Amino acid sequence: MSDYRIETKCIQGGWAPKNGEPRILPIVQSTTFKYESSDEMGALFDLEKEGYFYTRLQNPTNDCVAKKICDLEGGYAAMLTSSGQAANFYAVFNVCEAGDHFISTSAIYGGTFNLFGVTMKKLGIDVTFIDPDASEEEIQAAFRPNTKCVFGETLANPALVVLDLEKFAAVAHKNGVPFIVDNTFATPVNCRPFEFGADIVTHSTTKYMDGHAATVGGCIVDSGNFDWTKEPGRFPGLTEPDDSYHGVIYTERFGKAAYITKATSQLMRDLGSIQSPINAFLINLGLETLHLRMQRHCENALKVAQFLESNEHVAWVNYADLPGNRYHELQQKYMPNGTCGVISFGLKGGRDTAVKFMDSLRMIAIVTHVADARTSVLHPASHTHRQMTEEQLIEAGVQPDLIRLSVGIEHSDDIIGDIQQALDKTYNNL
Ligand SMILES: *Cc1c(COP(=O)(O)O)cnc(C)c1O
Repeated sequence: MSDYRIETKCIQGGWAPKNGEPRILPIVQSTTFKYESSDEMGALFDLEKEGYFYTRLQNPTNDCVAKKICDLEGGYAAMLTSSGQAANFYAVFNVCEAGDHFISTSAIYGGTFNLFGVTMKKLGIDVTFIDPDASEEEIQAAFRPNTKCVFGETLANPALVVLDLEKFAAVAHKNGVPFIVDNTFATPVNCRPFEFGADIVTHSTTKYMDGHAATVGGCIVDSGNFDWTKEPGRFPGLTEPDDSYHGVIYTERFGKAAYITKATSQLMRDLGSIQSPINAFLINLGLETLHLRMQRHCENALKVAQFLESNEHVAWVNYADLPGNRYHELQQKYMPNGTCGVISFGLKGGRDTAVKFMDSLRMIAIVTHVADARTSVLHPASHTHRQMTEEQLIEAGVQPDLIRLSVGIEHSDDIIGDIQQALDKTYNNL
């Protein structure tokens, strides 16, 4: 698959049927798998043999979809999870334990911000949030002897910051830790973080990968590039015997697959946030058109952003694809074909005007979702980021008047038409 272009991988990746097998990825809707002998089953439990035994650990449908996403990212190994939240939790928890520390940019998804800042703190794992525009020196200053990874979003939801991936990767590597990025918004069609030094990529497949707002899901992909053994004792979970698996040492037994094997055989075994095979099948259908949809999302979003930019009632527009945007240069470098369909903007009049505008939309719906085929709108300060203080909102790059518009793949004239009529209603009471 690695020789094919990304468009081909979207369609042909993952499932490769042999003679007489189903052309389309089968849904293996079975919790368990049969073996002829007790010994064979025992070897699976010791991780000595590869094979399926219980869907909480691995399932053939899920594995094919993980393999496709792995191919799209250019990674070495991957796993699906039940949600993007589970993916980000596992990705960090796989290298951090109680007493450890990690660094995250502050411009991240609200759910991830809570997970890191509140829930993981309760587990004894401390986080330092830093500005996504931090200089190398500022990133460096956040490191502690017990820092185990650096986390960021390639394209932040909803702040739409384009992260300087090479800068973050360089500082992480200088300090001997992996750089983990959530690539949900850009998708591998528009950005492949491994090419810029990221070590692990996570996804909420709930967004563009599914693309139709049908399934919640997540994925973790490992590049296989990070050397866990370089500094003895730094990542004991990977380089020292795992008592819960007869003393297996993941890096010795599994080499480049160590990280994903540990996350599957240890975290998934114990925490159980599995993707259901039916949902994996639906994600796979979404992936088959990901390359087409991302292109249309970007084309439409650029037209809408230009319309908003030229409208007298619009106070500001944030879309990195617009020349003049503060992240345009980074967009040109890391996502030259476009970012995604999500735009944010503010209306003159502030928070109340934003609410009135949203209530005036006809086709564009207010939903707690982004990144699917239908154009939708959300006011983070009233919805997804409601639990944050005004100060935290600003730190996360979310102005209180920010309207997040997820531009879909309808005809751009109809999207703009709906926005126009809502603006007329808001400002002129038409
Ligand atoms: C939605 C989202 C998540 C969380 O994913 P779920 O599938 O909703 O659990 C994580 N990161 C980003 C960037 C997201 O947009």
